[in-house]
Amino acid sequence: MIYIGNHLSSSDGFLAMGKAAVALGADTFAFFTRNPRGGKAKPIDKADADALNAFMAEHGFGKIVAHAPYTMNLCSDKADIRKFACDMFCDDLKRMEYTPGNYYNFHPGSHVGQGVEQGISYIVEALDTAMFPGMKTTVLLETMAGKGSEIGRNFEELKEIIDKVKMPEYLGVCLDTCHVWDGGYDIGESLDEVLRKFGDVIGLTRLKAIHLNDSMNPLSAHKDRHAKIGEGKIGAETLRSVVTHPLLQGKPFILETPNDDEGYKREIALIRSWIV
Ligand code: FE
Ligand code: FE
Ligand code: ZN
Repeated sequence: MIYIGNHLSSSDGFLAMGKAAVALGADTFAFFTRNPRGGKAKPIDKADADALNAFMAEHGFGKIVAHAPYTMNLCSDKADIRKFACDMFCDDLKRMEYTPGNYYNFHPGSHVGQGVEQGISYIVEALDTAMFPGMKTTVLLETMAGKGSEIGRNFEELKEIIDKVKMPEYLGVCLDTCHVWDGGYDIGESLDEVLRKFGDVIGLTRLKAIHLNDSMNPLSAHKDRHAKIGEGKIGAETLRSVVTHPLLQGKPFILETPNDDEGYKREIALIRSWIV
């Protein structure tokens, strides 16, 4: 059994997202914590957040997977950009406390030529600034496709971040099927082997959520262009074996495929038909 959902717009508030998810046949969802450019976030409406928490409990939702603005770069070479990103991260983690017990997923960042080690040390610094004792959220590092100078293009880079932060107990990983495929992990020919590697390098208890996407590009393309389920180079058969893999049960699976509501409804129904 898995939880399945897609990205929803947060502009109508928390409870509205819960209801929209149910209308699509979902029992989890993702949302951007603020506009992707990283502007100021709307103040939290506590009553609305409480209403979503109650609604999700009532409808048997899995954990939801908030997504940081994808332009946020915690390891830029410019101090003011790093500070801007880190301030957003801090603010988002405080806001996440209103929907406790869920996930906050972010792209580690791009080192823009400074090198992986410098990039990782800036990311660790930001995490140590933003995470606080007693927080109710687990922060998820997303596996990346390795486009440009992205950090997180292999399991080893994510593991290094986890090893270096002061409070690793608040960290997990979100595995994006398009990204790992583009990064060179062949989940088609050898899913078991990829998961074994994840277990050996990072540890499977850190694997908290899946971004379920097909890829427009072949294995190791390092491109990061998502395709609809079954319409890309990964293919429906492989994605089906991901969804039904014994090691991945009980986790939230988030679709980030290029779809409208009707398309998501169909994909969610398709995936549910795989789980018997
Ligand atoms: Fe992402
Ligand atoms: Fe993703
Ligand atoms: Zn992507």
